[in-house]
Parts: sequence; C-alpha cells; structure tokens
Amino acid sequence: MYIVKVLIEHPVHSLDMTFDYLSHQKIMTGVRVNIIFNHRRIVGYVEDEEYTTFTKEQLEEKAGFSFSFIESVIDEEPLLNEELKQLASTLSKLTMSPRISCLQAMLPTQLKPSTHKAVGIKYVKTVVIKEYGKAKTKKQQECLDYLKEYQELSLKDIPYSKAILDKLEEQGLICYRQVENYRNPYIIEEKKQVVTLTKQQQNIVNQITSKEPCVSLIHGVTGSGKTEVYLSLASYYIQRGKNVIMLVPEISLTPMMVKVFKERFGEKVAILHSRLSSGEKYDEYRKIKRQEVHIIVGARSAIFAPIENIGLIILDEEHDGSYKQESHPRYHTAQVAKIRAKSHHAHVVLGSATPSLESYSRALKGVYDLYELKERINQKPLPYIEIIDMVESMKQNNYTPFSYPLRKKIQETIDKGEQVILLLNKRGYASVVRCNDCGEVVKCPHCDVTLTYHKEEGQLKCHYCDYTLPLVKTCPNCQSSKIKLIGYGTEKIEETIEKTFHHASVIRYDVDTTRNKNSHLKLLERFRNKEANILLGTQMIAKGLDFENVTFVGVLNADLSLNIPDYRSSERTFQLLCQVAGRSGRGNKSGTVMIQTYNPDHYVIEAVKTHDYQAFYQEEMKYRRLAKYPPYCHMVSLIIQSKKEEDVRLCASEIAQYLNQHLTRAQVLGPAKSMIYKMQDIYRERILVKFFDGRMIYENLNKICDYYSKNKRKVTIVCDFNPYSQI
Ligand code: ADP
Ligand code: ZN
Ligand code: ZN
Repeated sequence: MYIVKVLIEHPVHSLDMTFDYLSHQKIMTGVRVNIIFNHRRIVGYVEDEEYTTFTKEQLEEKAGFSFSFIESVIDEEPLLNEELKQLASTLSKLTMSPRISCLQAMLPTQLKPSTHKAVGIKYVKTVVIKEYGKAKTKKQQECLDYLKEYQELSLKDIPYSKAILDKLEEQGLICYRQVENYRNPYIIEEKKQVVTLTKQQQNIVNQITSKEPCVSLIHGVTGSGKTEVYLSLASYYIQRGKNVIMLVPEISLTPMMVKVFKERFGEKVAILHSRLSSGEKYDEYRKIKRQEVHIIVGARSAIFAPIENIGLIILDEEHDGSYKQESHPRYHTAQVAKIRAKSHHAHVVLGSATPSLESYSRALKGVYDLYELKERINQKPLPYIEIIDMVESMKQNNYTPFSYPLRKKIQETIDKGEQVILLLNKRGYASVVRCNDCGEVVKCPHCDVTLTYHKEEGQLKCHYCDYTLPLVKTCPNCQSSKIKLIGYGTEKIEETIEKTFHHASVIRYDVDTTRNKNSHLKLLERFRNKEANILLGTQMIAKGLDFENVTFVGVLNADLSLNIPDYRSSERTFQLLCQVAGRSGRGNKSGTVMIQTYNPDHYVIEAVKTHDYQAFYQEEMKYRRLAKYPPYCHMVSLIIQSKKEEDVRLCASEIAQYLNQHLTRAQVLGPAKSMIYKMQDIYRERILVKFFDGRMIYENLNKICDYYSKNKRKVTIVCDFNPYSQI
C-alpha cells in the first residue's frame, strides 16, 4: 500500500500543507487526484508518496486518526514539468497564495475525469496501405491504387465503399487505424500573402531580434501596425525552432488575433481561453503538451501553457487590467511572463497605444527597451476628437443622454451609410430604482450596492452576487407606487436609439448579450456585415475591433470612470477613451469622435483630445509623485473580511497598528471600509500599504496571515500586490 501526500487548498486558511491519503496502486507525483476532505469532494495534487507494508488499521492505530483512500486519479500523467513546478512555488511566494492555487491556476480545469469521459478524445478511422500488392477484384485493385497515392486517408474521404475496404483488409493489403482528431475551434484558411513592413516596423523587428533577451515596450498609436510587428517577430523565432506565446487581454479580442495568427501560421497555432468548450480546451492543451504547435494565442492563463523552448512572449495591450488576476493567485501576467522568459532565455514584448505608467516609466528609465510608432500606417490621420460639455447641453434644456451635436453627428453618419460605435460604460436599463415618496432606493440585501434594473429579464439584479428580484411595483418601505427608474445603462440607450434616430438599427454588445459561446463573434460579424449601423456597448467595444466602415465614435459619459475613487481612475479613463477613439476611421474614410463630459477641462480629457500620451504621462506622474503612488512606490492592499462585522473591525485595526509599528519606509493607510463594504454578506475593511522594501513587507504579512489563521476571531486576509481592483 502507498501513503500519498496530497496538497490541498485548506478552505479556512491558506497555509500550504499536505494531507496523507492511502492508495493500493502506485500514484505518480505531480498528478491530480479526487479526495474527500471534510466531507467534501475536492481536487488535490500529489506531492509525494511512499510505500508501506503496514495495513490501514495499523497505520491508523499508530497515527491515532483514520485515513481515507484516494477516490480517483485525474491525470494520466503529470501535467507540469520542472519549470512550471518551480514557477508555482515562486508565484506562491510572490502573491502570498497557497501553492495549490498556483498549480490550479496553471492547469485547465477541463482535464478532470468526469469531464474527461464526457469530453473524450475524438477519433477518426483512417486507412493505410500495409502492403501494396494484387487485389482479388478489379474494383478492389482500383481502390488500392487510389490509396497508394496517399500516406493515410480518413475513411470518409475515400470514394470507395466500406465493403471494398473490408475485403482489402481481409487480404492483408491495408489496415485501419484510429487517429486522434482534434476539434478545431476556428477554421481559418491560411493566407500566405504577407505585407511588407514599413521601415519603422522593420526597424523594431531588427533591433529586438538582434538583442540579448530583454523586455521591450512598443508604444504605438492605434493603427500603427503593432500586430504586424508581432507576427513578424513570431515568425522569426519560429523559423529558429523556438516557440511563441501571444497574449491578448480579453476574450472579445481573441478571435481577431487568432484569425491573423492562423492566417499566417496555420496549424502551428493553438488557442487557449476560457470560452472554448471543454473538448476544445482539452485538445488544444494536448497539442501543446505534445509540442505539436509553436504558437499559443490566448488570454491571461495562457501564460502557463506547458510549452517548451520559448523564444518570445508578447503581451498586446499590456496596460489592460484583465492581465491582473483578481482571485488567488493574484498575479500580473507580465510578472509571470518575465519569470518564464528568464528560465527560457526568451524575449518579452509589451505593446500598447497607452502603456501603463509603470511600464512607460520603466522604459524611460532604461529598464525596458522603448520603441515608438507615432503614426498610423500610410500616415492615415488619427481621428478628430471633439469634446462636448454636458453642462452646456443642460443649459439648452436638453436632459437626454444625447447632446444636440452628438445627435446630429450620429444621424449624419447613418445617412451616409457609415457606421457608429457608441460607448456607455454601464450595463442594464436603470442603475437605481427609487421611491419618489420616501426616497428609498432598492439595494441588494447581501451587498452594499443598489440593484440594477434589467428590462429584458424584468429583474432587478445585483452585479456583485447572484441576487435577483422581480421589479417592484410598490415601495418596499412605504408601499407607494411612485417607483422611479433613475440613471441609464446600455439596455435603456438601446431602446431609445431607434426612437431618436431615423433608419437606425443597433447591436448591443455587453456582458449581458455575449454570455453564450461565440455570441460575441456573431454580434461583431453582424455589425461587420452592416446588419446594424450602430454598435453600442460597454468598455468591451473599446479594444481591438477593426471595422473599416466605422467613421464615428461617440462616448456618452466619459465621467463614469473618471469619478471612481481610485488612484488609477485617470489612467484608466485615458486608456479607455484613447482605445475607443482609435476605433474610428480605420478604413479609407477619416474618422471623428465626440466625447460627452461634465469635466471638459480635466487633463485626461485634454490629452485625449490632442492624442497626447506624453502630456497625459507627465501630468499624471506629477500627481503620482505628489501623492506617493506607484510607480513611485509599491503597493499592497489587504482586505480583512468576515461575516462578523465586529471581528473585521477589531482585527483590521490590530493589523494596521502592527504594521505601523513594524514597518519602516512604508506608509499604512487605513483601515477603512472598502468601497463595497458588505459583499455577499461578508464585511470588508481595507488597509493599503505603500512600501519600498519588499522583503520586509513579505516577512510581516506572512506573520500576520499565520497569526490570524490560528486566531479565534475568524477573519480572512486577502493580500493583493499591485492591486487593480477598487472594490
Ligand atoms: P495596431 O495593432 O497598432 O492598432 P494594426 O496592426 O492593426 O495596428 O494595423 C493597422 C492596419 O494597418 C491593419 O489593417 C494592418 O493590416 C495594416 N498594416 C499594418 N502594417 C502594414 C504594412 N506594413 N503595410 C500595409 N498595411 C499594414
Ligand atoms: Zn417609499
Ligand atoms: Zn449582491
């Protein structure tokens, strides 16, 4: 019998520990297993095992507690190689999260046994010639001659009947085989035609490829041809027998990038992202494991792809917040990319039209190499941007979401047969439901937020938990029927568009309309086919999309993100507005943009108007320096949470006090109630620590986490380094 040491994620605290389980068979270390822990079936990871001659009873007597057997083994073989195992340990230390959660983040969940069976491997039956010789009949001979032209043919591609093939097999001339048939998530024809790079593009490729591995930042305005640079770099490394990881921030962007990479590199490309079906994911993962592909295109988690011999890792739109994982382990993809690149002696390329302040300041300091593409391909002008002051609009007695100039411009664009993109970074129909008699607003009973009205479903929904409530007809507080819907989201605008404009047809593109697999692709394809002249969406439409007939982009309310109380909100707004503006005039016709705001003089708005990244950067860095925010320091956010408000309050202030006493060259802010104080019935206080000395921070935070994991007041502490989330 074997004693198997299984690493599990302990539900109450995040110490790395293994638990002993038994098995009659030898189990390989490095595979995942199903076990029962605290009456729950969970997945564990086999760290070690040893053979024992004792029986279960003897072991139990010796230990004084009972052992369970491993339920089942998940993986046929260990999934991670040495490099990735090492990476899991490093990541676990850097993000202060359990090793098991790092291992889990690296592995596709779809490789579990239950789905394993359901998913299975898709096989096709093929025919190969065993021995070319004389067949019994003329027809059989014809068939054999036909087969001779091919190495191997799938049964369904052979223009002869199964009966004839069976006869040939009987005579020992051919044999059948089962081969794995990979599901192909995107079938795209290979295009061999390749554009000639401009001098600037070629220059970047030459410089990067002639250098020792390092991190390069490509700052290129939208439409400056960064993608072609990526393709060319990828091709360079692949030709030299190296592999490439190409990362994109979000699922909605992946299809475009997949398309261009598949067109260029055909079957050498594997795709990894969360929207693939489990079968597809399984196939892609196996192709990678077997080193049958040379490029992986995917979102955040694709950075962990088990590919060997990496030559290049690219992060497109490197500033994007989705590169930061917001659950255990809270890593940043660029951080992981740099670690992997180091082990592989590979290049890292970060690209963006609006680099993060962290990256750009590193580039200016010479930590990264900086490349700038200042113009669009063919000197196409950047779109003309007009700022609309909404205070003025109200003075004209216009209280609708559309100012007069915006309304006029949308109508003109539609009348010309051109298309419009409209950004409103708020989904749903109405953001607040309020009683006009007593002022009561309808809130989520589990979270400190108002419920959003979703008209299509007739429901009030909480955007932070799954709570829903049918739209109330009377006030829950005073029974008045004067219920008012306040504020507007994409769903409401969608409804008003067709009333406001002649011949307008709209496609709404937000989380609610893109839930189904491929629905985002279908919506975009419909827009491309001009089935609608307006594409309305949340920040999802701001990135990556390339529609040549879009000549006008409107931003309904630029202040939504500007007003969020977070030190990154200016940076985020600048990025969002530049990105969405970049969707206009990408084809032959020139484009314009209108941005509606109550803050027309804000430096973010002014820099967006003049396409001036440098101006924004200088201004924002001044503020960061004054207020001592990253990149002028490091930052970690601690969320202290519990169902008991009292425990949270006490522990949070204890922790703040401890940190104040034990840290030097650091500033402790808080504790304060986090932006959403109660979420899913859990109370949350937040402490922000700005620091310079990483070692000291880790040491103390580890002490704190250890202490509170054993403390009788049950709080969980979430440490988030370089935090992106404001809630
Ligand atoms: P970015 O990623 O910087 O926004 P893209 O790579 O999408 O820009 O390029 C913008 C457009 O210019 C695309 O339609 C692309 O096909 C085209 N393009 C890029 N490089 C070249 C080139 N060297 N010659 C001609 N067209 C190019
Ligand atoms: Zn009321
Ligand atoms: Zn809620």
